[in-house]
Amino acid sequence: MQDQSFAKTRLAPTPSGYLHLGNAYSFLLTAALAKRHGSKILLRIDDIDRGRTRDAYVTDIFDSLAFLQVEWDEGPKTAADFHQHFSQHLRMPLYKTLLQRLVATGKIYACACSRKQLTEQGGHDAANCRARKLSLDTPNVAWRIDTDDAGPISVRTLDGTTRIGHLEAGTSDFIIRKRDGGPAYQIASLADDLFFGVDLIVRGDDLWTSTLSQLFLARLLGEQGFLDATFHHHGLLTDTENRKLSKSEGATSLRFLRTNGLDYEGIFELTKKGLPKDSLGLY
Ligand SMILES: [Zn+2]
Repeated sequence: MQDQSFAKTRLAPTPSGYLHLGNAYSFLLTAALAKRHGSKILLRIDDIDRGRTRDAYVTDIFDSLAFLQVEWDEGPKTAADFHQHFSQHLRMPLYKTLLQRLVATGKIYACACSRKQLTEQGGHDAANCRARKLSLDTPNVAWRIDTDDAGPISVRTLDGTTRIGHLEAGTSDFIIRKRDGGPAYQIASLADDLFFGVDLIVRGDDLWTSTLSQLFLARLLGEQGFLDATFHHHGLLTDTENRKLSKSEGATSLRFLRTNGLDYEGIFELTKKGLPKDSLGLY
């Protein structure tokens, strides 16, 4: 595993809440893997979801990285630099182009199903929805992709093996464009990884289905660079009741710990508790 080298990995936090110990673990692991495999680090802040983004959360990302002594080679150095040069909203043309390339595959359809319908049907009734053949230009519709032909999806892993996954119920015919016309997370993330030339993606286990969705899209578009990328899905830090940590202002937020006098060593020690098995001997 030490023999593999990569050009670039990324830290990709979302400014939708104060970062927590789980994010700290992910950052430290990514930085350690980058060092081990000679990879550069890109800081990519995923602010595509305007409704959830707050300036205070963007600032918190920079404060947290400084506190964790994690350095990066590419991307914004300050919150102002981020807004001016690196916000995902500046790359909207990139996402639109990717969406158009997907439309050209003939696998995209418009979906007007309401949240209420989805709940009543216990999920998305793809056959019924596709049969409506709504125009993609219909106002207030999401765009979905037909994943019937997805089959097995190969994921390259850090130990040099290939893991096979399938898009299953709940992730089949996933949304690529939201009702408001904005790109779904899968589109923005894939387009960005292609644009920046990322070939090592370190992310939590909770994003495994996103990995499959993005690889499915890359295969459809013939994006070999992304198909050849290596993925490492790490376990998620849990709290004392074995629940996954989530963004909050509570006791596990890095901001809370910082402002209550915990130092870097203290945070490092805390991430070791509830640490997943796959810490790769980096701690
Ligand atoms: Zn639908």
